[in-house]
Amino acid sequence: MMSSENELEGLREQIADTTREIIDLVAARNALAKKVGELKMKGSIPLEDAKVEDSLVRLVLGECETKGLDGQTGLKILSTLLAEGKRVQGFPAKQQLITPMMMSAKAQQIEATGKKLLRLDVGEPDFHPPKAVLDATSEALYAYRTRYAPTRGIPELVTAVRQYIDRRHHFPVKDSEVIVNPGGRFGVYMALMSSVREGESAIVIEPNWPAYKEGLQYIGARAISVHTTLEEGWLPSVDAVQDAIRPNTRAIVLSYPANPTGAILAPEKFRGIVEVADEHGLTVISDEIYTDYSYAPTPSILETPAKKFILTASFSKTWAMTGFRVGYTVSSEENISKMMKIQSLIVTCVPEFIQRGAIKALGSDPEVASNAAAMRERIDLASRELDAIPALQYAKPDGAMYIFPQARNADFDSVAFTMKLLEEKGVTISPGTGFGDYPRAFRVSLGGSKETIVEGIRKIGELLA
Ligand code: PMP
Repeated sequence: MMSSENELEGLREQIADTTREIIDLVAARNALAKKVGELKMKGSIPLEDAKVEDSLVRLVLGECETKGLDGQTGLKILSTLLAEGKRVQGFPAKQQLITPMMMSAKAQQIEATGKKLLRLDVGEPDFHPPKAVLDATSEALYAYRTRYAPTRGIPELVTAVRQYIDRRHHFPVKDSEVIVNPGGRFGVYMALMSSVREGESAIVIEPNWPAYKEGLQYIGARAISVHTTLEEGWLPSVDAVQDAIRPNTRAIVLSYPANPTGAILAPEKFRGIVEVADEHGLTVISDEIYTDYSYAPTPSILETPAKKFILTASFSKTWAMTGFRVGYTVSSEENISKMMKIQSLIVTCVPEFIQRGAIKALGSDPEVASNAAAMRERIDLASRELDAIPALQYAKPDGAMYIFPQARNADFDSVAFTMKLLEEKGVTISPGTGFGDYPRAFRVSLGGSKETIVEGIRKIGELLA
């Protein structure tokens, strides 16, 4: 008895010593990283080096395999070490990004003072939700459908989503493969959380909606950006995606039609990327929120043989239900059950009266058609207006509800221009830097009326003249 207690005591001491050694090693590693930082500063060498990080990822995964340690544990430790290294090297705090959400909050503040603005910032259509949606929502409210609902969604909406998907994509899904979320944003975050863990990475195609990268940062994962250009029509090549895959890459986020460019990846190319993802065991997260605003053949992940996928969709844009906060996600039963746990922990459910309205949205085809036609007219109109501004170039969107013009002047500063436009002309846009490394570009949202679009773009032209 005594001897096993002694043995236990001895082992505990060794564990404490080993822990101390690990901390000492971290301090020694930090000291080395600091020296590297000083040398980089002297030689004006960029502080961040993806190749060095990649070789460390390989080293750690190899070591874990040899020592019989879980690879993800190794990646988590490496992620902490890399963050420490950057901290002691005095990495400048990440430049504060101006996201569309932040522009919209700023515009709302100014409007609250009574000042009128021409809003080309917010990603929100000015259409009304279908009347059937309003009726069903208010009827449900007055019928006291005001209690907790099932986390997955009420069975009637889950069934309606299943039937809608079958009708649209001829893709049979089970109830267990669907979850109703409080908006596409929540679905996207849960998709990232269920497929990528701390220390791992996911590929994002830039320019894109900033929440993908921000979500990955919260998880402690790395976003590997595939940069696309206006000359490429804002579309990636299959090879560029393939080249971006690292040993710790677990997912790729695709979203077509894209925010902010309105570009659509041709279905064959989309399938090519899905094949590459499959070969590497990646989950394809396909954010299909703008599918109904498409004016060219548009791929859906449900129409590809993707092995691992998560589809996120929303009622916000198609039916102009942004404030309802409702969307849905389709994936494997395993992923959906992970999401059920997170959703039940954080929000319990989407309110039932909202879900009753959403059921009616799925049957509101005429409204979808008229909203889509109106958005197409706005794209045409905005394109004509931009054609009259020689300082800008753009790729005409094939869908979504935005245009992403780029200044011909290589020194253009989109943040400074956005602020000047707001101050001098009362027009709000979103700077290109919020969507990736695009200081020469900015996003014009076509959510507002034709008059707003014409007047706003003309004022942009005046400021650039
Ligand atoms: N995905 C994309 C690409 C978006 O642009 C947006 C909204 N701007 C969303 C998802 C989320 O929208 P919601 O949460 O309103 O469904």
